[in-house]
Amino acid sequence: MYLEKLNLKGRTAVVTGGGQGIGFACAQALGEAGAKVVVAELLADRVEAAVAQLRKLGIDASGERLDVTDSAAVEALAEKIESSGGAQILVNNAGVAKSDVRAEDTSDEHWRFHMSVNLDGVFWCCRAFGKRMLTRRRGAIVNIGSMSGFIVNKPQEQAFYNASKAGVHHLTRSLAAEWADRGVRVNAVAPTYIETPLTKFGMQDAEMAKVWIDMTPMGRVGQPEEIASVVLFLASDAASLMTGSIVLADGGYCCW
Ligand code: NDP
Repeated sequence: MYLEKLNLKGRTAVVTGGGQGIGFACAQALGEAGAKVVVAELLADRVEAAVAQLRKLGIDASGERLDVTDSAAVEALAEKIESSGGAQILVNNAGVAKSDVRAEDTSDEHWRFHMSVNLDGVFWCCRAFGKRMLTRRRGAIVNIGSMSGFIVNKPQEQAFYNASKAGVHHLTRSLAAEWADRGVRVNAVAPTYIETPLTKFGMQDAEMAKVWIDMTPMGRVGQPEEIASVVLFLASDAASLMTGSIVLADGGYCCW
């Protein structure tokens, strides 16, 4: 009875930024659970490579080139997927972090870049896929937030990123409240540092990496699959009573 709740057979899951890192792991996790997976990613060659890798794992995967900051393109993709049955699961994972820039040195372009991918992009996708889920009265959305939406990271400065992720968390709660009685759940996962291309700049800097590890009760960073398993749970019927939750997966970072 319980394991069956994790079975996603017959559902279609869209994962933005699913070509690498956490997004790719999410696509694999949802695919292993039986979902048909659509990798929606910025770069065409990365889409192709990810889809090939997922298919090699026996997953029913397809790919679409998508820039989540382009609301018209997001709407067009949602409509295209609707014509073949629609998406029952959406993972808003695409995100950027060009960190280590002080607030007073942050240019308009740097601020807009982060807000536009990390917050606008999440909203465009929630709106486009969410309204179609509402029509069918069925859907689960999982946004990838960050522990940076709760705490201020050290030692790298990144006010633009932290603010964008706090926005993702409150957007998650707001949509959850609006859509809860119409069959669509909206939750978020807030990861600690995860070993992906996004955090390479810090992992390669011995001093910075030491601060990150020392500030984490578990004394280590996380791996993409440790976030993907939380996403799988939230996307599945095992989390049927959960909406508006921001689930920390942070190795205890926020305890201190
Ligand atoms: P990666 O950079 O490894 O992967 C993110 C993917 O999203 C990349 O392929 C990236 O392409 C793509 N992407 C970027 N912009 C867009 C866009 N406009 N439209 C579509 N796709 C886009 O990052 P992670 O896997 O580490 O991060 C995934 C998510 O998890 C992000 O939202 C991030 O903020 C969040 N997160 C990550 C943490 C970490 O420590 N790694 C911690 C907490 C949260 P490209 O490379 O070309 O930019």
